[in-house]
Parts: sequence; C-alpha cells; structure tokens
Amino acid sequence: MVETATRGGGEERSCADLRLPTAAVDLDSLREFLSRHSRLFILTGAGVSTDSGIPDYRDADGEWKRPSRPVQFRDFMTDPAIRKRYWARGVVGWRHLHGAMPNDAHRALARLERSGRIELLVTQNVDRLHQAAGSEAVVDLHGRADVVRCMGCERRIPRADFQVEVVTMNPAWAELGARAAPDGDADVANADYAGFRVPDCAACGGTLKPDVVFFGESVPKERVQRAMQGLAEADAALVIGSSLMVYSGYRFARAAAELGKPLAAVNLGRTRADELLTIKVAAPCADALAACVA
Ligand SMILES: [Zn+2]
Repeated sequence: MVETATRGGGEERSCADLRLPTAAVDLDSLREFLSRHSRLFILTGAGVSTDSGIPDYRDADGEWKRPSRPVQFRDFMTDPAIRKRYWARGVVGWRHLHGAMPNDAHRALARLERSGRIELLVTQNVDRLHQAAGSEAVVDLHGRADVVRCMGCERRIPRADFQVEVVTMNPAWAELGARAAPDGDADVANADYAGFRVPDCAACGGTLKPDVVFFGESVPKERVQRAMQGLAEADAALVIGSSLMVYSGYRFARAAAELGKPLAAVNLGRTRADELLTIKVAAPCADALAACVA
C-alpha cells in the first residue's frame, strides 16, 4: 500500500491537520492509477460534498462527530414524536442542502464520465450533486433527499413541494436558523417539537419519509445488484471521500478485493478498507481530482 501522507504513531490528529497543501501530497500515484485503468467503478461519500458546504459526518479517524446520533429507521416509523423532531429540523436543514452547488470534485468526475472512463458511479450521498454536475451513470445508493416517499402507497412527491406544505403548516419554524447537516437535518438546540405538525400522504394518509435510506434500513436489493454489476464490469475501483464505516459502502471495497480489482482511495483520514487499498491519497477530494483529471 502506498500512503502519500504519513500518519503519526498514535497521536490525535484533527481533520485540519490532514488538510495538507495539495503540493505536499504526491498525486502521481493517483494520476497513474487513473491512466492505467480505462473503466472505473467510483464510490463517493460525504467528503466529495464538503466543498459544496455540506458537512461531513465523520472526523479523520472515522468517528461520528455530530452531537446527536442519526434517526433510526424503526424509531422514525413507530414514534410520532421522533417524526416531528426529524421534520422540524429538516425544514431548516433542507434549505441549506437545496441551495448547495457542485464543486470541483463533482465536475472532475463528470468530465471523467464524458471521456468514457467511468463504468458506474455509486454515491452514498443523497444530495444529487453528481447529477447536477452532469454525471449520468449514477446509482444513488442511499436514495435522494429531494424526494419524499409515502410508506403506505409508494407515492413520491418532490421534497420542495413537501417543504411548502410543511412551512405553511408551521410558519414559525421557517424562521429558525441552525447548522445544517449532510442529510438535510439540522442541529436545532432546545426546540420544542411537540407543536410541530407533520403532513401525512394526501392520497392515503400514510407516513411520509424522505426517499433516503435511514440508519437501520436496508438498501433496496436491485440497487445493490446494479452497483455490484458495475463493479464486476469495471477494471478498477476508486473510493472518494468516504471512510467506508457503514457496511453498505464497505461491501463494495471488499467485493473489489475479492474480485481482484485494484482499489484506490482519496480520503482525508482513515478508511475501514485501508488494508485492502493499493493506493491511498490523503488529500481533499476536490483538490486531488481537479489536479488529476484533465
Ligand atoms: Zn400514500
């Protein structure tokens, strides 16, 4: 394994310490990897969108860094109080997510696809910024935050329309400011959620849920199959901006290794697949990709 940024012997390091100037990071190994493999399987995570102002969930050691744990699927589906809190915070977070624009990392990957080098791009992000940058062969592994789905009748509505409905029902919440999080959630301190009103499905009265895969929820099988097929048809795999701490992403790194495909990663900090990597570049995604993709 070639590690282009050395890690100290056990001392604590923050993400900021790892933000080395691009010049200090040897990107030649990544350039060579990209030129040697003509059909790439790409797996992206939150690190690709941080330069679009969408914060990452995890620090350089792969540890959870937000004050509250994410909502679990079972809790969301069974507890109305959890749903009130989720959507109340989501009203604030959505505005931030909705306004985010693609960055150099998304644009570099769209260029790579246009030059015929990408077999499939699988993203763990729900922000749709790869598509906004022009990528077409994309699997949204964990769904998309711009769509709301009825868990009763499978009807899907745009999140923007749902937002209008929620804000109309809860005008006071529209004014709240808060820190935004990657899934459109937000950290709203000391808020009283009891009075928040959550709309149900207009067609069947069912529970509405963002069309994203929650923690504790399975990724739909056909989505995993499509991603695995892309991996099988690629000649190498590249992980970008993901610590792979969640199994749904890690399984592709493991499958790449089992299939004997070369596996590279661009990520600040540790990944769960470090020992499987042939190349690891510890650099910000946008800088590394902009420098390595013509
Ligand atoms: Zn419904």
